[in-house]
Order: sequence, then structure tokens, then C-alpha cells
Amino acid sequence: MPTDVQLAVSRIASVNPATGEVLGELDCAGPTEVRAAVTRARAAQPDWNAWGVRTRIKVLSRFQQILLTHKNEVARHITQEAGKPYVESLLTEVLVVLDAARFLIENAFALLREEKLPHGNLAVNAKSGRILREPYGVIGIISPWNYPFSIPATEVMSALVAGNVVVLKPSEFTLLIAVKLQSLLREAGVPEDVFQVLPGEGATGAALVKSDIDKLVFTGSVGTGRKIAQAAAERLLPVVLELGGKDPMLVLDDADLDVASSAAVWGAFVNAGQACLSIERCYVHEKLYAPFVEACAEKTRKLRVGNGMDAATEVGPMISELQVRVVEAHVEDARAHGARVLVGGTRLRELGPTFFAPTVLADVDHGMRVMREETFGPVLPIAFFRDDAEAVRLANDSDYGLAASVWTGDRARGEALARQIQAGTVMVNDVLSCFSISEAPHGGMKSSGLGRTHGRWGLEEMVRVKHLDTDLLPRMKKPWWFGYGGEFRPQMEAFLDMLFARPLRERMRAVLRSCGALWRRKL
Ligand code: NAD
Repeated sequence: MPTDVQLAVSRIASVNPATGEVLGELDCAGPTEVRAAVTRARAAQPDWNAWGVRTRIKVLSRFQQILLTHKNEVARHITQEAGKPYVESLLTEVLVVLDAARFLIENAFALLREEKLPHGNLAVNAKSGRILREPYGVIGIISPWNYPFSIPATEVMSALVAGNVVVLKPSEFTLLIAVKLQSLLREAGVPEDVFQVLPGEGATGAALVKSDIDKLVFTGSVGTGRKIAQAAAERLLPVVLELGGKDPMLVLDDADLDVASSAAVWGAFVNAGQACLSIERCYVHEKLYAPFVEACAEKTRKLRVGNGMDAATEVGPMISELQVRVVEAHVEDARAHGARVLVGGTRLRELGPTFFAPTVLADVDHGMRVMREETFGPVLPIAFFRDDAEAVRLANDSDYGLAASVWTGDRARGEALARQIQAGTVMVNDVLSCFSISEAPHGGMKSSGLGRTHGRWGLEEMVRVKHLDTDLLPRMKKPWWFGYGGEFRPQMEAFLDMLFARPLRERMRAVLRSCGALWRRKL
């Protein structure tokens, strides 16, 4: 584990969810430490900004190569702290960060560059307009445990390359991997106060929200997101909120049954179902329903559950007792309301306290908790629909709107449905991989959040847009300044006609009427 873990008075432990082993302990940051960290960050920001984008890109480049060199060690830390299979740590964490770095290395300079603002009206010759993208200053980032490396790292990289400094409050379940991220960035040349990690629980996050930061990027549950939005409203702190999801999968009657059922099983059980983009509810056309359910059950029975460090493991433990209880409650509610548990449905206590068997539920209905609330565990509930319109209605009948997928042999039909689904991302014939497309925005609508991370849009969240307007006729008073008088009304009317009247000959008449009069005004 990271070497800079030290013993101290106020402690927070990091535990391997597969084995219960304590991996390390860290000091918990209280309000005083939070304030001090933000003050140090603010002092460091002007220098970091003065390094310029090109130099910061070089730092990112070094970070990318250092991460590549240490990929095995980083993936092992992630698996030990978060429980996911080692190959998933490489695929959904390390690879995502390497590629997000690639995107910023290739594009950050062009995207952050000053931009000339074209003028379409009369100002065209009399004005020079430019758009500047300036860093906010100190960005606070609060992150969850389910993707403890890729989520904070992609946000941190975007913030840093734009000239911000960052104070990160990682999840209390995955502190050590955040410390590892810090040591990799330091090795790449990021100065100490430019990126700081504050270990702690919710209270530390709440203190960060109240501190003197300039913007907050939060990823976590809807409940915490609401609390943060309320606290941020007090002082109009800009926030990005990446919140929960209840992603629907729609399997149309022309879908490839084998491909779609494999996708459902992977999409529901990857990271033990603890992904914001997991398939949380599956709707299948009635014609395919029975064979689809059977295929999912059969494939799920074959999954190997265990410690993520074992090469054979496909599904690891869940992160905590609290999370397992939510899953149990949803499965029980479904069972009590008539759902059939085809596979799983219970804990696997012989493996450890937080292992839950991958579970397939059939005959669920849209009113059950498992179809309405975020389960965030290894459960695949499958319902049916009769036609495309009903499928879209069911998909949209949700408080959430993070992502969705449509499965079909007809691309045009899939895309037409995708356009009708209320979600930040809709994939046709794929699931979850949108998170690894570094060019693509990530974020939700409805209760799934505000703003975007990743890609151009994620980078734009890290800058204030400033309009710089320079008048090119500094010795001329403007004709619309005071001194209106009676004559000015018809002149203004003609002026508007001149700009917007159609057809052209009307406009030309207005030009003749207005030009002389308007510009003859006493300047
Ligand atoms: P959580 O809301 O419990 O905690 C997230 C972070 O917020 C943690 O660091 C936690 O310590 C901190 N926190 C808790 N209370 C706080 C408060 N009052 N003020 C400030 N910070 C506080 O969420 P979690 O259990 O860590 O993560 C799982 C949730 O995150 C799921 O709902 C999942 O869908 C969501 N998530 C969303 C995305 C996305 O991109 N939309 C990605 C991953 C996870």
C-alpha cells in the first residue's frame, strides 16, 4: 500500500472488503484541516496557473507514463480496497485514466485557448471580441468508492490542466487509492499544495463544501447531492453533481438474444452491480422474454464470485454491510410482491460478510422498489413490454436519467428510440463503455445530476468563460447614448428595420432612411 500512510490520533481505517484485512489508517481531516488545506491551495494557485497550459500538459504526460509503469500496483491497490476483480481495475480504472490523460494531452491546449468572437451585426467592424477561459481557482472534489481511481483522477486532471488547484475528499472506504493518486501526481511534478487529499467521512466533505473553494465537483448518491446543493445555494457555489442512476436496458424484438443476454449479465454484475451506469432494470419485448430470462439465468449461474485478486473471479464482494442491506431489502420487496428469484437472492456468507450472489429476478413489475430505487448491487430484474412506445414510456418513468441502452438489429430504429429516452447518454447495442470514451460527456438529467465531467464538456466545467470586448473606435461617442430627443425614435425604428427587415429591398430602403440620420446625430 502507499508508503505515506502514517499513524495519528484521529483515525480512519481502510479495509479490504473481500478479507476484512485492515489495509492502513489515515488521519481524518476536521474543519480546521480543511480550511488550512484550502488556504494553502489558494496560495499555490497563481504560480500553478502561471506555468501555462503547455507545461501542465507536460506534467500530465509524465503522469500518464508513470501510471502506465505502475499499472499493476495501482490495479492491485484498487482491487484490495474496493473489491472488484483485478482485470476490472485495469479496464475500468487504469485504462480510463490513461485515456482521459491522452485526451487532455491532445486537446487541452486547443480547448482552453483564447478564442476570437465573431460578431454578426453592426459591431462586426467596430469591435474586437475574445473569449477567455480562466481557471476558477480552488476546485473541491468529493468522490465515491465505486470507481475510486478513475472518477477522481479524470476530474483532477481536467481541473489541474486548466490552471486550478484541487482539494480532494475521497470516499472513506477508498482512502488509500486516493493517496496513491496523490503520490503519482507528485512524482509527475505536481507541487504539494496544488493537489491535496483530505481523508475523512461525510463531515469532512461537508466542511469542504463550506470552505473557501470556488467550485465543487461532487460524485455520489442523490441524497448527499441534495444536501450539497442546499449548502452550495447558501453562497451560490457553482457545483457539478454526478449522482445515482437507474439505467434501463430495452431489448427490442429484433435484438440478438445471445449478445443482449450476455450484455445484461455483464452490465448488471460488473463491479458487483456497484456502477452508476449498471443495468438496474431490464425491459424485454414479450416475444423474447422467456428465452431471454432463461439465457440470463444460465449465464449468471456460471459466474465465479470471490476475491478480486483471484484470476478466476468475475464478481467480487460489495463494499459494505449498509450497501448489502439495501440489496437485500430490494430483493425481499420484489419477492413479497410476486417476483421469481431465478438465481441468487442471498448473501454468500461462506465467502465473507459482504458477498452477495448475482441475482436474476423475473416477473418483476414497474412498481417494485427494485425497479424504482437505485439498488447498486448485483441484481438483474427483468420485466417485459409489448411495443416500442411502451418500452420508452417505462424507461422514462423514473426519477433518474443517467444512461440507458437499446438493443436491436436495426440501427435506425434503435437510434430513433434513443432520441426519445430521457438520459445523459443512450447507447445502442452497448452498455457502460461510454464511460471510457474520453471524448464523450458524462452526466445525467433529472435526479441523476447537473453538469458534465469528461471530454470537452468536463474541461469547460473547470473554467470561467470571460468575454473581453474592445471597442475599435475609442474616439467616437456612441449614437445611442443620451440626447435621445424626438428624432431618435424613428431613427431607431428605421435602424431595426435596417438590421432585420425582409425582403432585402425593404432593408435597403431602411438603410437609406436611417444611415444619414442616425450617424448625423451630434456625437
Ligand atoms: P455517498 O453520497 O454516500 O458519498 C459520496 C461522497 O460524499 C463520499 O466521499 C462521502 O464521504 C461524501 N459525503 C457524504 N455525506 C456528505 C455531506 N453531507 N457533505 C459532503 N460530502 C459528503 O455515495 P457513495 O455511496 O460513496 O457512492 C455511491 C453513489 O454514487 C451511488 O448513488 C452512485 O450511483 C453514485 N455515483 C454516481 C456516479 C456518476 O457519475 N453519476 C459515479 C459513481 C457513483
